[in-house]
Amino acid sequence: MMRFCLIVSFAMAIFACGSGRNSASSAAMHNETPDTLLPVPATEEEWKQRLTSEEYRVLRQKGTERPFSSPFEQVWDSGTYVCKGCGNELFRSETKFNAGCGWPSFYETIDKSKVKEIVDYSHNMIRTEVVCGRCNGHLGHVFNDGYGQPTGLRYCINGVSLGFRKK
Ligand SMILES: [Zn+2]
Repeated sequence: MMRFCLIVSFAMAIFACGSGRNSASSAAMHNETPDTLLPVPATEEEWKQRLTSEEYRVLRQKGTERPFSSPFEQVWDSGTYVCKGCGNELFRSETKFNAGCGWPSFYETIDKSKVKEIVDYSHNMIRTEVVCGRCNGHLGHVFNDGYGQPTGLRYCINGVSLGFRKK
């Protein structure tokens, strides 16, 4: 029965996205945060069943959400941000700061093992991509530009890649 409900709500999610709602309202609709670690899917088909189309585009196809489209960009509640793909705990709310760049920004991860950093040569730039250390889902990029104090780092993360466990 639980599984049936999940399938029905997923079908409704596809319908809602197809009706042209903007991503902020659909993000609010599908803001179910995994409350434990989820098994990492073995196939892309399983990923498509777990994620909304926008989450799939960003997490699995290294997409970027529109700036200022994530409700998390201006959420300042206490809690923990987790990977939307697998539930891995990534960032504490205490390390979130207002970078004004249009994406949720953090100055450090919960610990180094939570993410992997990969040199990214796409779009004629050299950047450091940040992926989930557990499921390899694309999260965003980290910049060493001094904005995030005290570390000087700015983890610029797609809100659609995140879930939030409020304290
Ligand atoms: Zn993950």
